[in-house]
Amino acid sequence: MSCERCHDTGWCAAATDATRVERCECWRQGVVQTLLSGARIPPRYRDCELASFVTYENEQLLRAVEKARQFIELFPVVDKGLLLIGPPGIGKTHIAVATLRQVVLDKGVRGLYYDTRSLLSTIRATYNPVTRTSEVDVLRPVMEAELLVLDDLGAERLTDWVEETMNLVVNTRYNDRRPTIFTSNYEDLSDSEALDSLLVRVGFRMHSRLREMCEFLEYSGPDYRDFEFTPSSEDLYRAWSAQPRRKLPVRASTRARAQLKRGKPELGWTGGRAGG
Ligand SMILES: [Zn+2]
Repeated sequence: MSCERCHDTGWCAAATDATRVERCECWRQGVVQTLLSGARIPPRYRDCELASFVTYENEQLLRAVEKARQFIELFPVVDKGLLLIGPPGIGKTHIAVATLRQVVLDKGVRGLYYDTRSLLSTIRATYNPVTRTSEVDVLRPVMEAELLVLDDLGAERLTDWVEETMNLVVNTRYNDRRPTIFTSNYEDLSDSEALDSLLVRVGFRMHSRLREMCEFLEYSGPDYRDFEFTPSSEDLYRAWSAQPRRKLPVRASTRARAQLKRGKPELGWTGGRAGG
């Protein structure tokens, strides 16, 4: 379809001074669409927006959404990325992708989405064990994206290679001051023995780097996928209220279990709950 304003040249008379030309809005739209389709956002998340995300009276969740809003507004002047933590199905990927999309749309930056496991398998596919390097074609866009979303951090079993590769990616971005948004199903437990803690899943070095480079946004909630239709705020609040408040991970350490049995109120959660 042709543009009446610029007749598809991409240039038109400047609004302030007709003797000059400026980029037409249609050209900008075209650039943004190209950037969006290059961001590798999976089809099911392609329309994610913060505006369409149903929230409810859950202080930690509302804080996460507010931090995402601020991130969009302030980008690229942001000190830290975001790390969304919580059980599966509570909308972490929605918030992460909505933030990525909006930053691309508003600021016209190169953004990139990767599921952590698929990133690692892509890198692995080109990895040369003799030279211990991967194709630069795979790594460069990940390291150089102005905003990267790494979904489901900690899902991959931590081997030396996984740890080394993830640290390379994340450290390079950190040193180049390029923000990253992570999601993870693994809680940031202070108990370093807990097998399902973020620390154990990503390793000590990555964990301390994440602390430096990200705002930790941990929240709980009902699984959105348990609802047949799009749930209302009331539906979500009701389901959330019915959940046990301090759910231990399946393979929690013996010490945490013992504490729970003794009914100790403080289980060493660092994420904290409302008002904590
Ligand atoms: Zn035009």
